[in-house]
Amino acid sequence: MMETSEDTLDPSDWNAFRLQGHRMLDDMVDYLEHLRDQPVWQPMPENIRHSFQQPLDSGQSDLESAHAIFMKDILPYALGNVHPGFMGWVHGGGTPVGMLAEMLAAGLNANLGGRDQAPIEIERQVVQWTRKLFHFPETASGLFVTGTSMANLLGVLIARTALLGSGVRHKGITTNNQQLIAYTSTNAHISMAQAMDIAGFGSDALRRIPVDQQQQMDIAALELAIAEDRKAGMTPFFIAGTAGSVDVGAIDNLIAIAELCQRESIWFHVDGAYGALAMLSPDLAPRLQGIERADSIAFDFHKWGQVPYDAGFILVRDGELHQSAFASPAAYLKRESRGMAAGSPWPCDFGPDLSRGFRALKTWFTIKVYGAEKLGQVISNTCALAQYMKQRIEAEPLLEPLAPVALNIVCFRYRSADANRVNADLVAALQESGIAAPSTTIIDGQLAIRAAIVNHRTTASDIDALIDATLALGEIVAKNAQPQAGRGLQPRPTRFHDT
Ligand SMILES: *Cc1c(COP(=O)(O)O)cnc(C)c1O
Repeated sequence: MMETSEDTLDPSDWNAFRLQGHRMLDDMVDYLEHLRDQPVWQPMPENIRHSFQQPLDSGQSDLESAHAIFMKDILPYALGNVHPGFMGWVHGGGTPVGMLAEMLAAGLNANLGGRDQAPIEIERQVVQWTRKLFHFPETASGLFVTGTSMANLLGVLIARTALLGSGVRHKGITTNNQQLIAYTSTNAHISMAQAMDIAGFGSDALRRIPVDQQQQMDIAALELAIAEDRKAGMTPFFIAGTAGSVDVGAIDNLIAIAELCQRESIWFHVDGAYGALAMLSPDLAPRLQGIERADSIAFDFHKWGQVPYDAGFILVRDGELHQSAFASPAAYLKRESRGMAAGSPWPCDFGPDLSRGFRALKTWFTIKVYGAEKLGQVISNTCALAQYMKQRIEAEPLLEPLAPVALNIVCFRYRSADANRVNADLVAALQESGIAAPSTTIIDGQLAIRAAIVNHRTTASDIDALIDATLALGEIVAKNAQPQAGRGLQPRPTRFHDT
């Protein structure tokens, strides 16, 4: 049992607590130092899964034994996105510095809804850096949120307020007799449709414009859709360009969208969930040209920025408008010019959350310690690795590329009969092998093995491991109706499995 003082949750023996804390820190440093010795992922045994379905226990247990359960039953069965072999979906790798910053933030237990405190100045510092990065004016506002799904929703709500005025917040959209329509490409992330749904417009009010050969939104088709909607009496109000599409990493023609939005007086939003931070890389930043003209940009520090989850962000050109979309007066949130209630506006005036964690600290530490230049190099490097992977695929007769490699995402497949089923099985077998972890997507009806290189730890040897394992397992899977996962391959040793 952890010895707590009689009346509080603090330890009675601070020295014992300190020693145990150091052990926990050491275990995590060991884990990060030796990631490569472990499988990327391994399926969780059923008995462990069941061990987390116990009834609520009213008694205490000691910190040491809870930590032992963490090491034995939780840590080995995490998804593995910290691992250099992880290439599924779009997941950030996190960093040791980010981990320590999270600990400091948790120790402070700061609530960043508002009030006069240094943690909010840190969030404002990150907002200021972000403005500069995207060439936004000093009057632009920014806010940490959970992720880009939330940031996209905020973008829609702010655009709604821009068009209808803040009266819409009281009367609701149903009293407005215009039908508001938004546009994005068929490549856009599903959170764009969810944003329209949650905002009350319905996902049918989001037009999905086809993409061209380069997987970019077809601007002529976009113009046509807007003209047709106007003719039908509807009100186009929002266009979301994508900077780094989740399927293939395509970047829409942001300059053309900016110009169209200006001409048509439509809100220009950019979903740059992972791609927007390519601004940190001098060789990639020119590809994002036009982003500096956006009305709002949604992106994540927790993907390419390597900040530990979660650290989503929205940047809004017109800070006053942003505030008018969310600020709400309440007696218990009264502002003062001195004392703790000073420092208005507060972060809670820019979004739906009142209680907010200190996401800014891990972001500030990451940028401060590693530097913007090094973070930009990491981003460039993941794109160089994607080009290397593309070359390896092109050199293998049994492999076939399925999409252009614009940034850091490579889509390909193993050539075989019944290719969709074989490649789905192959990806599951790769994941279960613990060697490499891509995910899947569908491109023009074809199931693709999709490798998104986001993690700063990934090197050319991890790309080789993925390609070699794909060839070895592909042969087995293509021959077998019901392949055994990982058969014929030596998985990475499971170093932390039994500790
Ligand atoms: C990941 C992603 C999202 C969703 O972001 P979350 O942080 O997971 O909410 C939205 N759009 C794109 C393009 C993405 O890659």
